[in-house]
Amino acid sequence: MASSFKGDVEFKQVDFRYSEDKQILKGITFSAKAGETIALVGPTGSGKTTVINLLSRFYDIDSGEIMIDGRNIKDYQMSALRKRIGIVLQDTFLFSGTIMENIRYGRLKATDQEVIEAAKMASAHSFIKHLPEQYDTPITSGGSNLSQGQKQLLAIARAILADSDILILDEATSSIDTRTEIEIQKGLHYLTKGRTSFVIAHRLKTIENADRILVIKDGTIIESGSHMEL
Ligand code: ATP
Repeated sequence: MASSFKGDVEFKQVDFRYSEDKQILKGITFSAKAGETIALVGPTGSGKTTVINLLSRFYDIDSGEIMIDGRNIKDYQMSALRKRIGIVLQDTFLFSGTIMENIRYGRLKATDQEVIEAAKMASAHSFIKHLPEQYDTPITSGGSNLSQGQKQLLAIARAILADSDILILDEATSSIDTRTEIEIQKGLHYLTKGRTSFVIAHRLKTIENADRILVIKDGTIIESGSHMEL
């Protein structure tokens, strides 16, 4: 069935190794329709991060194919490919600048008003408003003046501003206070709506809400289905 928006993703028999000695991924095959949320779960070292890194073509695969909207990712210009993919990592890259500048990094031409709108959609606005200098608050040494959860909220705001149609999310493993956790879930809900999203999921709620779960073990998909099916 044709999708109404863009961002269909397909992995076909993908094999990958970082070096000669060890095959990391073996015959990874799955597809995600535009707009779906796919949760990747599995033990540490099983290959979850590797799968999603291959989508941005950080490495070339040994065999198989990775397609976006029916086109091999090798046939995209690297800049065009990377522009389509937004990434929200556990350890958000924050630089020495203000909160405003750090969110704007998602789209450099965004106006102050657009940055604030994105922060509102991300549920980041309320914590920012409570800081003495609000959006002008400087980020010190990579964000040591913010909590892990607040950093994730800024990353979500940044990704909303970037407006890419495919998203990669590495959910925080560290404990986050309940209130911030709720804000993050709200922000993620807004962010992932209408975008194809791949989440390395650590929270049960995220797994429950995913359209499909891929269980990865030793570089292969051992199970796939919805939370109800598995
Ligand atoms: P985690 O849950 O701990 O993040 P993961 O499921 O995401 O684990 P990967 O990070 O994809 O797993 O790692 C899969 C395997 O690839 C591991 O054996 C890891 O040691 C290896 N690996 C990961 N990155 C590299 C790299 N840059 N060079 C060589 N080997 C790597």
